[in-house]
Amino acid sequence: MTSRLAAAKRVVVKVGSALLVDQKTGTLKSSWLSSLVDDLADLKVKGADVILVSSGAIALGRRTLGLPTGKLKLEQKQASAAVGQIALAQAWAEALRTRNIVAAQVLVTLTDTEERRRYLNARATLSTLLEQGAVPVINENDTVATSEIRYGDNDRLGARVASMMSADVLVLLSDIDGLYSAPPNQKGAKFIPEVAAITPEVEAMAGKPVSGVGSGGMITKIEAGKIALSGGCHMVIASGHELHPLQRIMSGERCTWFLAEANALQARKRWIAGTLQPVGHLIVDDGAKAALDKGKSLLPAGVKKVEGNFQRGDTVSIMLGHKEFARGLVAYDAEDARKMAGHKSAEVAKLVGVDRGSELVHRDDLVML
Ligand code: GLU
Repeated sequence: MTSRLAAAKRVVVKVGSALLVDQKTGTLKSSWLSSLVDDLADLKVKGADVILVSSGAIALGRRTLGLPTGKLKLEQKQASAAVGQIALAQAWAEALRTRNIVAAQVLVTLTDTEERRRYLNARATLSTLLEQGAVPVINENDTVATSEIRYGDNDRLGARVASMMSADVLVLLSDIDGLYSAPPNQKGAKFIPEVAAITPEVEAMAGKPVSGVGSGGMITKIEAGKIALSGGCHMVIASGHELHPLQRIMSGERCTWFLAEANALQARKRWIAGTLQPVGHLIVDDGAKAALDKGKSLLPAGVKKVEGNFQRGDTVSIMLGHKEFARGLVAYDAEDARKMAGHKSAEVAKLVGVDRGSELVHRDDLVML
C-alpha cells in the first residue's frame, strides 16, 4: 500500500487551509509548506507529474482585509480570496523555486471541469504545464464563482482535477488522518485503513465537518472519493499535521486508502462507451479502420465523410459504411473536421488555422465497440 504513492506516475495533492494557515495569526505556516515542497520535488525526481490543489486564499486574505473572525458572508469570502490568493500563489512559487521547480497558478470554476469544451482546454493547458515540468497550483476562482456554480470545497475540486488529468493517486492532506467507523472522539470508533468501494455504510461513517478554517469535512472527502474512484484514481486521506506528510505516507504512517477498481484509462473508456450519446458520424476507410484496430488515433486522411453538427469534445460514432465500430471524443468541431477530412496530417494546421495536433480522435479518447 505504501508503495502506491511512490509508484504513481501522476499525483494530485490537495492541501487544506487548516494546514497552511495558522488559525491564531492568520499567517502561512512556511516551514510545513517547504517540507511538503521537498516531498513533491522528490516525487518529481522519481518521474511523477505533480499537481497541487491548494486552499488557503480565504483564510489568508480575511485577516489582511481586516474582516472579523467567525463565519463570513459569501461576498466577504470572495473578497478575502481575491486578497489571499496573491500571497498563496507567491508562497508556493517561492518554495517551489528553491527546488528549481516552476509553479503555475491555475484558477478554475466548476464549469471548467464540467463543460466539455472548457474541460478539454483546461486539460490541454495542464498537460502542457506538466510536459514542461511545471507544478500547477490550482484553486477555485472564488472571486468570480457564484454560489450556484461553486465547488465551495477543494476536496471535490481536487478529485475533478485528478480524474480530468487521469492521475493515479489523489492525496487529501487535512487535519484528520483518515476515516473512522464513527466520529474519532467517540468510544469504540475504529480506524479504517482501506476502503475498496464507497458503500452506504462507508458514507454513513462520515461525520460532520471538523475543521474551523477549511470548508471540507469527511462528507466532502467521501464525495471526492466517489469522483476519484470512478475516474480510475486511488485516493488517500492523510494527516498533514507533521512535516513531510508525503514521506510519512510512503513510510507507512496511518492513513486511509480508497481503492479504484479500474485504472484511469479504462475508466475513461468506459465513460465514453457507456454514458455519452454520439452527436455525429465520421465515416472512414479500411485503412483507418485497420489503424484503429491496432490502437492508433484517428487521423483525418482516413476520413471519407463527416456527418452531423458537433462541437470539439463531443462524442462521435466512427463508422465503416453504415456500421459503427468505434466511438470517441472528437478534437475538432464539425466544420473543421469537414475541412480536414481526407487530408494529410501535415496540412491540418493550415486548413483549420490552428495547430492543435492532427488527431481527429486521440486514441485515449477512443473506444472500439
Ligand atoms: N478555495 C478556498 C480557499 O482557497 C478553500 C476551499 C476549501 O476550504 O476547500 O480559501
